[in-house]
Formats: sequence, C-alpha cells, structure tokens
Amino acid sequence: IVQYKDIHKSFGDVEVLKGIDLDILPGEKVALIGPSGSGKTTIIRLLMTLEQPTSGIIEVNGRNLWQMTDKKGEYIEADDKHLRSIRGDIGMVFQHFNLFPHMTILENCMLAPTIVSKKDKNEVRKTALEMLDKVGLSDKVELYPNQLSGGQKQRVAMARALMMRPKVMLFDEVTSALDPELVGEVLEVIRDLAKAGDMAMILVTHEMDFALDIADRVLFLNEGVIEEQGDPREILVTPKSARLKDFLVRFT
Ligand code: ATP
Repeated sequence: IVQYKDIHKSFGDVEVLKGIDLDILPGEKVALIGPSGSGKTTIIRLLMTLEQPTSGIIEVNGRNLWQMTDKKGEYIEADDKHLRSIRGDIGMVFQHFNLFPHMTILENCMLAPTIVSKKDKNEVRKTALEMLDKVGLSDKVELYPNQLSGGQKQRVAMARALMMRPKVMLFDEVTSALDPELVGEVLEVIRDLAKAGDMAMILVTHEMDFALDIADRVLFLNEGVIEEQGDPREILVTPKSARLKDFLVRFT
C-alpha cells in the first residue's frame, strides 16, 4: 500500500535519510524504532506530505505522491487536488493532540470532513459518534478538550484521524507526552484498532513490549538507514547488529 523507493532527505547540509526502501503491505503493522534523531519522524512526515524528499519516490496505492500525469500522459508536479486525494488514504496521530480548545470533542472530529471534504453534516456526525465509540469516549462527546485527561485527548485525536477511514494510520510517539498511568489506555485503543483490521499502521514507538505484541514487522532505523528489520521477535529478542543490541539495552 505504501512504497518508499530510495528516499533521501536532507535539511541543509545534513542528510537525515540516506536511501530508505520500504514496502508496506495492505493491513501490515510496522513498528519503527531507533535512537533520537535517526529520522523516524521524518519518514512519517514525508508520507503525510509535510516534507518533500530530496530524492526518491513515495507511492501510495501505486500513485506517486509528488507527481501526476497530465492529459498527454506526461509526468508533472502534483497539484493540491492530487495531494489531497492521496492524503485522504492516510491518517495521522501526533505526540501532541492538536485539538481545538473552543470546540467540543464531537465538533473537533467533525471539522475536517465537513469543511475540507464538504460532506453531509448528519452523515459526518454519525461517523464521528461511531469513531468516538470505537475509542471508548461515547459519554464525552459534548465536553471540551480541557475537560479531558491527556489519554482521553489522545483518543479523540485517534477518532478524528479515523474519520476519513484511512487505509494507513501513522502514529508518532503518541504516548510519549502522557503521564505513565495514561499510557495503557491509549495503547489499548491502538491494539484494538490493530486487531480489528485491514488498516495498515506505521508506529514510531519506544514501547518495545507493545511493538512485540502488535507489529508484524519491526524496523530499526539508525542514522537515516534501516539497519535491521524483520519479525518482531527476531529483532527485539535476538538482535544481530551491535547498534541494535546497544539500543535495546537502553530501552528495556
Ligand atoms: P526523535 O525520536 O527524537 O523524535 P527521530 O528519529 O524522529 O527522533 P527526526 O525527528 O526524524 O528524528 O529528525 C532527524 C534529524 O533531522 C534530527 O537531527 C533533526 O534535528 C533533523 N530535522 C528534523 N526536521 C528538521 C527541520 N525541519 N529542519 C532541520 N532539521 C530537521
């Protein structure tokens, strides 16, 4: 469903990603681990079109993210419509929830589909209630973000990302800003989503037990290169590279 082909990304003189090749299958759950600064967030931001690669190609469902064909079949730079339509397949949850404080939970979930996609408000409302139910917040829909705990806010952010029924969900260290006692409830919701289905997931996480539990594959990123990848048990329990061994000692 997602393919990265020889992706390089530099910020100024610094090459942050040094040739990433990655093929994510429909429904596959991939955990991305690695030291701080290794480029994990950048991999995710590229797919969200929040950054453009310096070179290389990213495809979603076989469609090139940054290029489209014109009427003559020639490649031209993608326009906003093309980007929007591909982005519709991708949902993202960040470390910080980015909810609008002056809107209720329900309104926060309804905003993008109503305004951006101009969908029917009653339909959107129905979907929002369904998604908020999925994350266990049916009884909180009329509250405002500041009336919720951090874990609950993060679950709202998830419901909001689910609104467009994405084929791929991206989770970027979604528990790292939470108090320890709130981490479990958020991981539980992700686990339910993972078990439920056919949505592919890329999870940047430092929760190794969680990765072991839900991932189909674990990738170890180091200095902008995928240094080791494979079955979660192989990677996390019997790592091969010295750097991965070092890394795991610090996190477990
Ligand atoms: P962490 O676990 O700390 O979040 P990460 O593996 O997600 O780290 P990235 O956030 O992808 O790492 O960053 C990789 C490198 O790129 C870092 O050295 C960071 O400082 C740099 N970087 C990221 N975004 C930018 C930017 N917009 N401008 C300049 N440098 C950037």
